[in-house]
Amino acid sequence: MEAYVSLARKWRPKCFADVVGQDLVRESIKSSLVSGNFFQSILLSGTRGVGKTTIARLISKFLVCENTNSGDLCMECKNCLSIDNNNFIDLIEIDAASNTQVEKVRELIDNTHYLPVASEVKIYIIDEVHMLSKSSFNALLKTIEEPPKHVFFVFATTEPKKIPETILSRCLHYTLSSIDPKEISNNLKKILNKEKITYDDKSIELLSKKASGSIRDSLTLLEQAINLGNGKIDYSILKKYYFSFDNDDYCEILKHISNSEINLLSEKIDFYLKNNLEPLNFLKEFLVVLYEIILSKHSTSMNEDGFNNQAIIKLFTYEDLQLFFEIILKAIRDFYHVPYNKMSLMIPLLQMISFKSNKEENMATSMPLNEIEKKESDPKKSNSTLTTLSKKVSKEVEIEKNNKVEATKKINSNKFLKDIIQKNSKDLGALEKILLQNSEIKLLSKNELILNVDLKVKTMINKVSEDKIIKLLNDFFNNDMNASINYMEITNSLIIEEKKNEDQNILASKQSIEKDTEVKNILKEFNGELIENTIKPNLD
Ligand SMILES: [Zn+2]
Repeated sequence: MEAYVSLARKWRPKCFADVVGQDLVRESIKSSLVSGNFFQSILLSGTRGVGKTTIARLISKFLVCENTNSGDLCMECKNCLSIDNNNFIDLIEIDAASNTQVEKVRELIDNTHYLPVASEVKIYIIDEVHMLSKSSFNALLKTIEEPPKHVFFVFATTEPKKIPETILSRCLHYTLSSIDPKEISNNLKKILNKEKITYDDKSIELLSKKASGSIRDSLTLLEQAINLGNGKIDYSILKKYYFSFDNDDYCEILKHISNSEINLLSEKIDFYLKNNLEPLNFLKEFLVVLYEIILSKHSTSMNEDGFNNQAIIKLFTYEDLQLFFEIILKAIRDFYHVPYNKMSLMIPLLQMISFKSNKEENMATSMPLNEIEKKESDPKKSNSTLTTLSKKVSKEVEIEKNNKVEATKKINSNKFLKDIIQKNSKDLGALEKILLQNSEIKLLSKNELILNVDLKVKTMINKVSEDKIIKLLNDFFNNDMNASINYMEITNSLIIEEKKNEDQNILASKQSIEKDTEVKNILKEFNGELIENTIKPNLD
């Protein structure tokens, strides 16, 4: 029986043409090898599994190969073959992680003075070179300053910043990039075709995504996938094994969000967590899906790699999607501060439900995209309304001001805010819109204004949004108003007004109470405090 050779070893590149990705580095190394003026100390840096030691070995092979006339390795001379078989006497490979003591490095340096045996050069590959001790680096320094003519050093590291400047400045440094998922999947397909193993595109996509830029990891994952599928690649098995989420699963989640189906979402999350879903991965991949949906919404022509579930794309406005992106991004940043996994997933989903726009706006976006563009880009229509609006508002401000308002006199805050939002609808980010919707304007004096923002939204707002709002308020009031922001509990805002209006509708109020109970139950379960007064019932 033949000994089993792992795929990673079996398909390790035997010549430069086989290397996956790294086109620039590969070509530059190859041409300097061909020219015969190869630098005696080179450093290869890059994250794990991107091909550093593979390239280091190809360099070694090129330096000793007996026939490089083609510009690449011959792969059949005795030197090429013996490097492939790990028994080439003039290639010395050292793992610095296990050889940090200075004695070992001195031994290595002493050894450099002996002439090569099998060819004309001796090559030292030092992997994870940043792990060497300070004294080891010092011992090495003299040799790489003036190396014997027959000696070449190839250093590899994942952390070039930890290498002393004195060493770095004597090496030619090549930075290897992480490999594009597309290149990884092409490589996996090539191998599977040659191995005559059946596969489907969804499996390959899953494996190349999971490899996160590492060619070595992709081969290990492939090997595992073949074992799981008993000799073939089976997507249903892989999906279950990795509990991987694909676009279809995220579409389901987004549908529940659109329908405000909190209980269904909660059940789903319970199920996922029971099946070993990695919550942080879930959030990160959600971010990618949202990014793809946003891109698809922007592009008129569908590209085959993009997100192409039109029903989901039409479910939300640009604003919604931008906001969802920010909510998930924040959930990722805060992940380690949240005590329970379920909480770290449910809170962002609940926020998405609470802050998504109402049905009317959604209806607008369910029109074909080109019609929306037409509507939005109709300059006559939008400009004329804006001009009238802004004239009207400035006039009202004038009147208010001329009336010599007293220090805390109330103005019709909601009316102003509504106008401000409408006038700036194109420049306002989702978070800034939320800030304005949850605020109340108070005129302190003739030219001093304070925007009281509901405390409940404070955690979502950052300094950049605040500054933008202040600038916007100043602009709105023709720059003769001094605006500032203050957080407090407020009793009047657009959101609160909207809620009051809804309550007048008996049916709507009934629904809203039901929805609120649902939300409260969930919140009770998490011991959470969500921005309750902004949860809007869907008026079906
Ligand atoms: Zn050769």
